[in-house]
Amino acid sequence: MAEDLYSLKEHYLRCVRCGQCRSVCPVFEEIGNETASPRGKVFLAHMLASGELKADAEVAQKLSLCLLCQACTKECPSAVPVHKIIMAARSQLAREMPSPLQKLVFKDIWTRPSLLNFSSGLLRGCQGLGLTSLGRSLGLLPPALDLTGRLPSQPARNFIKEITKAEGAPKMRIGYFLGCTTNILFPNVAKSTVSVLSRLGCEVVTPRDLKCCGLPQAENGLIDTAEALGSFNAAAFRRLGIDAVVTDCASCFAALRESNTFKGIEILDLSQLLNDLLTGHKLKKTSRIITYHDPCHLAKAQGITDAPRELLERTCAGFREMPGADNCCGGGGSFSFYNYDTSMGILDKKISSIKETGAAVVATCCPSCIMQIRHGLLKSGQNIIVAHPVELLAQSLQ
Ligand code: SF4
Ligand code: SF4
Repeated sequence: MAEDLYSLKEHYLRCVRCGQCRSVCPVFEEIGNETASPRGKVFLAHMLASGELKADAEVAQKLSLCLLCQACTKECPSAVPVHKIIMAARSQLAREMPSPLQKLVFKDIWTRPSLLNFSSGLLRGCQGLGLTSLGRSLGLLPPALDLTGRLPSQPARNFIKEITKAEGAPKMRIGYFLGCTTNILFPNVAKSTVSVLSRLGCEVVTPRDLKCCGLPQAENGLIDTAEALGSFNAAAFRRLGIDAVVTDCASCFAALRESNTFKGIEILDLSQLLNDLLTGHKLKKTSRIITYHDPCHLAKAQGITDAPRELLERTCAGFREMPGADNCCGGGGSFSFYNYDTSMGILDKKISSIKETGAAVVATCCPSCIMQIRHGLLKSGQNIIVAHPVELLAQSLQ
């Protein structure tokens, strides 16, 4: 998932400072400051690795100004893996100046499903009592707290069974990786995923004891924690015997595919699998116009752009592309929580693109993008629905 900074030396030394990466970086476009540019952050990482720069709060803040969207990595003519260098630099920072808050959130709480569940229950309770709204209106709580929206009444884990039988003769035994964001914020996405897979002839195995995919930890420099989570999850799937693993979260998908701990386990793209299983099935098409936002972890990290569109075109009569569909929405995992104002500036551009299409629904394969885009649409007063393609398929499948 992330490598040691020094081991990437040959890569950061390849940066010739041509500046081409600046033209595609959403953070640089928003801030306009050289240290926020991809090449600026590669330079910072280089200085950090050579010891010319000491790890401190200012360096940490500058390196936090990255969505890890990979636009720069794709654009770089010298093939510099900018996002990997930034992740490795964050990892070095986490070793040299560990942050107690990051450790508490990403290691002590996030790696323990019971504690994560308890924390989300606490937030749900505070929202229900109006305490979060009060705290926000008094300026005591940060606006980033609004990003999650109102938490649903229960997480998906409360009702998704460990084994869901296939309808008819089972074609495959599929392991379902139920990620944290889907579980806590979008249980209906999980319900739809399990339902459509089962209706299309898959036995669905959702291990009870799954933990986080490790991406939030890796993005925050906690590489050992991320790897331990990967090993734990891979062992859970191996124990239960499955043909392949799928997930409805683009970020979890990229994390599982890039993890060494999942070697030997086939990780399938959910849209592609569904397209294959849908051959010969009749679907009821909606007349609503649907547009699609490409999650960075699916499009740029894994090169998957056609399968989700093909799936959507099966469910609707009027698919319409938005301009810059693969431009980042500004979410970037914890980026929007750390850098809320910058994130909102990037999100505004995405919302304008969505509006331009005249669509009634914007679909995307990443629950974190759903959260971010829903927040932007609410803020701008747009009556546009945000949905996962699998939810739309669940409605169309007859
Ligand atoms: S495009 Fe590549 S080589 Fe050019 S400045 Fe950016 S990272 Fe360096
Ligand atoms: S990964 Fe994205 S946000 Fe980060 S430097 Fe590259 S283009 Fe900018």
